[in-house]
Amino acid sequence: MVEEQLRTRGIHDPRVLRIMAAVPRHLFVDPTFANRAYSDHALPIGQEQTISQPFMVALMTQALGLEGDEKVLEIGTGSGYQTAILTELADRVFTIERIPEIGIPAQERLTAMGYTNVVFRIGDGSLGWREMAPFDRVIVTAGAPRVPSFLEEQLRIGGCCIVPVGDASNQSLVRVTRSEEGLKEQVLCSCTFVPLIGREGWSSGEPG
Ligand code: SAH
Repeated sequence: MVEEQLRTRGIHDPRVLRIMAAVPRHLFVDPTFANRAYSDHALPIGQEQTISQPFMVALMTQALGLEGDEKVLEIGTGSGYQTAILTELADRVFTIERIPEIGIPAQERLTAMGYTNVVFRIGDGSLGWREMAPFDRVIVTAGAPRVPSFLEEQLRIGGCCIVPVGDASNQSLVRVTRSEEGLKEQVLCSCTFVPLIGREGWSSGEPG
């Protein structure tokens, strides 16, 4: 997976490549999909949600530029696979999942695997996590209608956020960097994510 799907497609951060090789993705999917866990596809995780494709996980992680001492907010815990990658590369991770039937098993899975530097929450992540702010990095793994407004106050100056923005058929992966002057946006690539549903997201599962 690392050689064929990641390195040849522009993933070059050695820490990201090492962790992608080390974290067992098959443990984050239903056993019936285990034989497809290392192919470059999103896979169903129940409740009409998906575990992101490995390339997108690697791309987003690389775009965060983690060095090891960051406090990270993740919105959309899902299977917990991206969460595991983040906890390996950052200091602390705060992760929010909207659907308890997904978020609670993800928490149990990561706890059983021995991850301790992660705090879980069930709720609407489109508002961020005000009590735990500010964050050095924010990663949103669901498609938002616009860059979430909480970033202005919850992202540390000098920090950045990666967020898919757009409707169901046409999303751009955007990196937002916060400086003294405000927020600056850069489009990294096109992408397809399930919708971010919440107060600052879509109001139903049918965006756009
Ligand atoms: N990184 C995850 C991606 C899961 S799909 C993985 O690879 O497994 C995106 C997840 O975002 C879904 O589980 C969905 O329920 C969740 N989600 C959607 N809107 C949300 C919101 N407002 N707050 C928190 N989680 C949300």
